[in-house]
Formats: sequence, C-alpha cells, structure tokens
Amino acid sequence: MTATHSTRMLILGSGPAGLTAAIYGARAGLAPIVVQGIQPGGQLTTTTDVENYPGFREVIQGPWLMEEMQAQAEHVGAQMMWDTITQVDLTQRPFRLTGDSGTVYLGDVLVIATGAQAKWLGLDSEDLLKGKGVSACATCDGFFYRGKKVAVIGGGNTAVEEALYLTNHSHDVTLIHRRDSFRAEKILQQRLFANERIKVLWNKQVNRFIDGGGTAGLVGIELEDTQTGELSTIEVDGGFVAIGHHPATELFRGHVSLDDDSYIKVEPGSTRTSVPGVFACGDVMDKTYRQAVTAAGTGCMAALDAERFLAEADFETKAHEAAE
Ligand SMILES: Cc1cc2nc3c(=O)[nH]c(=O)nc-3n(C[C@H](O)[C@H](O)[C@H](O)COP(=O)(O)OP(=O)(O)OC[C@H]3O[C@@H](n4cnc5c(N)ncnc54)[C@H](O)[C@@H]3O)c2cc1C
Repeated sequence: MTATHSTRMLILGSGPAGLTAAIYGARAGLAPIVVQGIQPGGQLTTTTDVENYPGFREVIQGPWLMEEMQAQAEHVGAQMMWDTITQVDLTQRPFRLTGDSGTVYLGDVLVIATGAQAKWLGLDSEDLLKGKGVSACATCDGFFYRGKKVAVIGGGNTAVEEALYLTNHSHDVTLIHRRDSFRAEKILQQRLFANERIKVLWNKQVNRFIDGGGTAGLVGIELEDTQTGELSTIEVDGGFVAIGHHPATELFRGHVSLDDDSYIKVEPGSTRTSVPGVFACGDVMDKTYRQAVTAAGTGCMAALDAERFLAEADFETKAHEAAE
C-alpha cells in the first residue's frame, strides 16, 4: 500500500536553504517534512574547509556544518524523509508530490530548495583533485590561494567574474578559454582586459589536471591548443572550473515559471513563485550569489513567506465558513 505523509509545510531539499526553512517552519508550528533528495545536506557535504559561514572563528568542515543544521532542524521538530521527489502536482492544494519510493507527500505549502550543481569538465583528474586544488567556486575557495598562482576555465560571465574576484588574492590569474573570444558581457571583458593580474590563454582546452602526488594536490594543468593540437603545461596551485551551473528544476518545468537559464522565478524581494503557496529559496532561484549563507537567508525568507501565506489562507477559510 502507498504511504502518504501530510504536512502544512513540505520542503524539498536538505541543503542550507531547505534546512533553514525547516528550522523556521518548525518553530512557527508548521511541523515541516523535509524530503532530503539524493544529497542529504546538499553541496556543502562535498567540500572540506568552510571559512565564510558566520559564527565560527575557526575553519569548519562542510559535512559537519550540515549535520549540525539537520540536527538543529530535527531538534525543533522537523521530520526528515530519505526520498527523492519524481512527480509533482501543483494544480490544487494540498500540493501532491510523489517520491521515487512511491510515497506520496501532501503539503499545504511547498518550499522548493533543490539547489544547483556546478558543471564540471568531466575529466578523471578533475574528480581526483576536487577539493585538492580544483574547485568550482572562487568566492568559496579563492581565499585559500592567497599569493598563489591560479587558473580559471571558461569564457562566460561566471568565468570572467571569478577571474576578477581571484585578483583580490592572487597576482597571477590565468583565464583559459577554448575559443578566441569571450561570451561574457562587454563591460566585464573591459574590466578583465584592464586588469594586469590576469592573462588570457585563448584556444586552449584542459586535457588534464596534474597531481603533484602525496599531499601536494594540484600543481599544474595540461592544455591542448584547440586549433593546432599542440600540448603545453602551466604551473598552478588552484584551478577554478567556471562553466556554469545546472539548477535542479527539471521536475518543475511547466509547473512553476522558470527564467531563461532554468532558475525558478520569484517575485523580487520575496520567495513567492508563479504558483500561490509555492516558495523557492537557495541556489535554485539564485544565480548571482550561490553561497551557503545566502541560501540559508532565503530559506528563512521562504518559511516566513509560507507562514504568512498560510495565516492569510486560514483566516479567509474561517471568514468564509462563518459567513455560511
Ligand atoms: C565544492 C563546493 C564548495 C563550496 N564551498 C562553499 C563555501 O565555502 N562557502 C559557501 O558559502 N558556499 C560554498 N559552496 C556553495 C554552497 O554549498 C551552496 O551555495 C549551497 O549549498 C546552496 O544551498 P541550497 O540549499 O540552495 O542547495 P544545495 O546545497 O544544492 O542542496 C540541494 C538539496 O536539494 C536536494 N534535492 C535535489 N533534487 C531533489 C528532489 N527531486 N527531491 C528532493 N530533494 C532534492 C538535494 O538532495 C540537496 O539536499 C560550495 C559549493 C561546492 C559545490
């Protein structure tokens, strides 16, 4: 028999956005259910050192932070479900979502916090050196490369912004692009070309991230010229892959409005989506900041928006019943 769980507040995703929404939702008495998805704890469970989440003087570990957030959410009454949602019906309330276990989840409101995943080049050496010199987030990891040589791979806005950001820490930033011109906005390109700390390598693709062995991590990148096939090597301590992100929104296509890059559209200054009672927070609706603390911040907003929505809906229902 199919199991069914009902809640006032259903939350999809257990990264900083979903768990913060759960903490606020639970403390508002909404007994949230969090469907955790295939990555309980979200993206931060894939990293080690986190130095920019407020409240911790020393460097903390990403997986530890997420365990603490989950424990805090459970402590105040949120319930975690080990399941991944595969079907949604948002045409009427309660919203009806189905997990790949077959379990049905009914929610008076829905908070979508399914995050976004960085796109990677797909090289074996990249996998081996992730967190050991290879990263997809300059804001997160740039600080660890103070005074060191770094490279950024990509040619769009993200790559140019990451390269510019890294000049705060490094005098030696190389931007590697497989074509002979950037897709990035002109104004960003002007800032890039005016910055003496950045040099550009055109028509080069990454063949391999080079492992220094032992505890050394990344020591260089092997490049191939996309026009001549010529191989070359550059020495770097950090390599930042900046070729974009995939927001986890396929499930919601046709159900809530998405923007041209497939992020969930929200009303400015709120977490309200195109469907009343459905809220979105964290990286799934934010292509600008993409940080744990901003995800947590919008998670808080989503829970508060949802709580107000329910209070208004309850008031209208009672007023309607009284009039009958
Ligand atoms: C390697 C790495 C290092 C980073 N370092 C830092 C750092 O130092 N500081 C910092 O501030 N930020 C850092 N970030 C960025 C930060 O992790 C993200 O901004 C943040 O995790 C976004 O939180 P989120 O809750 O929006 O989504 P995510 O953390 O992406 O979580 C998404 C959640 O949704 C769930 N989910 C997805 N689809 C479904 C579904 N169909 N059903 C149910 N659940 C689903 C997933 O299982 C997951 O639990 C780093 C990111 C990476 C990848």
